[in-house]
Amino acid sequence: MNQMPVQNVICRIKSREIFTDRIFALRVKAKDGCIFDHAPGQYAIISLPSDDSHDPRPYSIASMPDTNELVFHIKDVGRGLSHALMNAPEGTEVALEYPLGSAVYRPKKSPIIAIGGGLGLAPILPIIRTALKDDPSHDVFLYHGAAKESDLYLDEKLKSMCKTYPHLEYKGVIEDIDGTVGAIAAAAHDDLSNFNAYLSGAPAMVIACFKALEEKGLDIKNTISDALSGEIKDFV
Ligand SMILES: Cc1cc2nc3c(=O)[nH]c(=O)nc-3n(C[C@H](O)[C@H](O)[C@H](O)COP(=O)(O)OP(=O)(O)OC[C@H]3O[C@@H](n4cnc5c(N)ncnc54)[C@H](O)[C@@H]3O)c2cc1C
Repeated sequence: MNQMPVQNVICRIKSREIFTDRIFALRVKAKDGCIFDHAPGQYAIISLPSDDSHDPRPYSIASMPDTNELVFHIKDVGRGLSHALMNAPEGTEVALEYPLGSAVYRPKKSPIIAIGGGLGLAPILPIIRTALKDDPSHDVFLYHGAAKESDLYLDEKLKSMCKTYPHLEYKGVIEDIDGTVGAIAAAAHDDLSNFNAYLSGAPAMVIACFKALEEKGLDIKNTISDALSGEIKDFV
């Protein structure tokens, strides 16, 4: 996967899809109509040129590369940029510093275990979609951890994706009820020594996941995560 040089791109908000009362998808299109060419797993730093009261923030790219639009999945925390993006009208300009991050898809034949905590699901989506597009018989085990059921915001879509791709297994984990997503994922596997892992979410959650999976043989060299590499210190 080629790594693009970082660019500044001015976009406009094209549409918004509401998933839950707090979580939405923001679709943006470049003003110059350019094709976006990130590696699956990367993120962009977004700012609102019309309102500099909000600091720029990083958001993972939830959409596939090679289209003229980008999709972000954003949790409105009731303040800051996420709240402003939830309320900005369609057509509002957003500035992107793009693409960033090195926790990207590695095209390998090994089975994949992918864990997203909360909005950490967003960068995992283009990764597993690319793996399955390249080879629909690639074994992919996807876990989404959330505090409550309504935060499993793509539950139905991911279940239906499993019907399209029989080699994709998905489990939504409600952590308050089921236990931690790392423990649930680890319990489902006997030997992860030949797996590639993609872990995304709050650093503490990612570290806990890695420790649980390591007990089943997961090798850190086969584990791709911004949080684990120390690149990311914070996440909602
Ligand atoms: C690499 C990277 C990728 C990221 N990708 C995404 C992504 O894809 N989607 C996404 O939504 N976020 C993502 N984030 C987090 C995002 O960058 C912002 O930190 C987040 O949107 C909050 O910024 P803000 O300006 O809206 O809020 P701020 O004004 O910065 O306020 C944030 C503060 O709100 C408080 N807070 C946090 N959660 C809640 C809550 N649930 N309710 C009330 N208060 C809360 C906390 O005190 C937190 O420090 C990512 C972060 C990183 C580092």
